[in-house]
Amino acid sequence: MKFITALNCMDGRTIEPILNYFKTKLNIDNLYVDMITEPGIDKFLTNIENIEKLETKIRISLVNHDSNYVIIAGHYDCAGNPVDYEQHKNDIISSVYNLYNFLISKNFFNKNEKKITLIGIYVNEKWNIEEIINLDIS
Ligand SMILES: [Zn+2]
Repeated sequence: MKFITALNCMDGRTIEPILNYFKTKLNIDNLYVDMITEPGIDKFLTNIENIEKLETKIRISLVNHDSNYVIIAGHYDCAGNPVDYEQHKNDIISSVYNLYNFLISKNFFNKNEKKITLIGIYVNEKWNIEEIINLDIS
C-alpha cells in the first residue's frame, strides 16, 4: 500500500483523470491518493498564507501516510481560477515553488531523510494530464 498526495481543485471532473494518470505512470500496487481540495487550488497556493492553512492536511499525508509524491493540479474550465492556459501554467509553477519552500521551511523531511517529488500538472480540455513542472526535494 502506498499513499501519494494531490492538491487539487474541488472540481469533481478532475478526479478520475488524475487517479488514472498516476496509477499508470507510477505503476504501484494499491496506490491511494490523498486528495486535498480547494476551488482553484493552483491560484490558492500562490499565496503562502493559504498553504499554511493546509498544513495539517499536508502533514497527515506526508508524515503519517509517508507520501513522498505531491501533485499540484490546475485544470481547464476552472470556476475557482477562471484564467487562460498560460496563466494556469504560471500559477501552477508558482504554487509548486511556494510549496517547495514551505516544505523546506517546515523541515518535514530532513528527519526522515526521504526524497519528495513535487509535480505540477494541468488537466486540459480533453481531460488529459499535461506535466508542467517537476521538482525534487532530497
Ligand atoms: Zn477548478
